[in-house]
Amino acid sequence: MPQSPKPNSRQWRGVLREYSDRLNISDATPIVTLGEGGTPLIPAPALSARTGADVHVKFEGMNPTGSFKDRGMTMAISKGVEHGAKAVICASTGNTSASAAAYATHAGIQAVVLVPEGKIAMGKLSQAIAHNAQLLQVQGNFDDCLDIARDLATNYPVHLVNSVNPDRIEGQKTAAFEVVEVLGDAPDIHIVPVGNAGNYTAYHRGYTEDLKAGNSTKLPRMFGFQAAGSAPIVLGHAVKDPDTIATAIRIGNPASWELALNARDDSDGWFGAIDDAKILEAHRILSAEVGIFVEPASAISVAGLLERAEAGAIPAGARVVLTVTGHGLKDPQWALRTADGSDVQPTVVPVDTPAIADLLGLRANAEATA
Ligand SMILES: *Cc1c(COP(=O)(O)O)cnc(C)c1O
Repeated sequence: MPQSPKPNSRQWRGVLREYSDRLNISDATPIVTLGEGGTPLIPAPALSARTGADVHVKFEGMNPTGSFKDRGMTMAISKGVEHGAKAVICASTGNTSASAAAYATHAGIQAVVLVPEGKIAMGKLSQAIAHNAQLLQVQGNFDDCLDIARDLATNYPVHLVNSVNPDRIEGQKTAAFEVVEVLGDAPDIHIVPVGNAGNYTAYHRGYTEDLKAGNSTKLPRMFGFQAAGSAPIVLGHAVKDPDTIATAIRIGNPASWELALNARDDSDGWFGAIDDAKILEAHRILSAEVGIFVEPASAISVAGLLERAEAGAIPAGARVVLTVTGHGLKDPQWALRTADGSDVQPTVVPVDTPAIADLLGLRANAEATA
């Protein structure tokens, strides 16, 4: 059985224990946690200065497997185990498989993950394998993987933990609770990357529940961004061969499409599309000016903010929260790519202090030369 932390421990206890009264769990639910949630909400003065808004970044790369997927996975695996699951299955663009693998192995059950061949970042593939998942690369795209995972879960004894599993979105709504706790109210605008649109839906649900509970005074406008080569919701139709460097949102037929449209309408929200060059530019701004390292899909929140600010759609002083969904170490190669497409080459120097000082443009202190 999982051990509970001591009552006076200041360690964050994971989202199921922290929000047990706001989730559909009971004493019969075995809590499978790696301590997910409790991620920092970081003020971003550099982005505030660029936009005239009051910008904060919810850094979900700080979750145990490096993405927000852990919030939903603790719930989905805990409920699955409660109902006797011995194996779980998911289709994934990478982070769901890393998370499912970690939580399943922690619970002592098997994870099976289906990923599109050649289209997932090395860091994520390594995680799933390290955590002992049975990983199959399907010769198709994410949407094909999800169809197969659903078929298998319907007809064989494996439990589906994709975001079509309602427990996932329930667990993910806790991120909105955390934002409201830190800010003391909901923000005016909340921006998220959109793939299957489960996270967009989850934030809106969390904010709605907070408003009803009297914890906040407003619903944020939900802004969601898709990559231009993979923007079914923006286009209004499924995309057969979605294409973008932001592999985590390379999805042509979002599972939570309807739910997300409802959330948009209810919150006076917005869906926009951003091309890969703008995503990479935003990636550089976030790492070089704010100090937060994310994977490309996450940077679309920043790109979306900049695009909306340029369009005049962000009122001066508006409080804006950007969710950045996954850690930069998942897919680090993009940090080395310059704007013209070549790779950064770190400068090589000899073991020679004066030569290095010279190169750095440093002049010796007065005492050193006296
Ligand atoms: C899963 C994922 C997304 C997309 O979230 P959805 O709920 O599918 O819209 C975005 N960024 C990262 C890093 C992800 O892992």
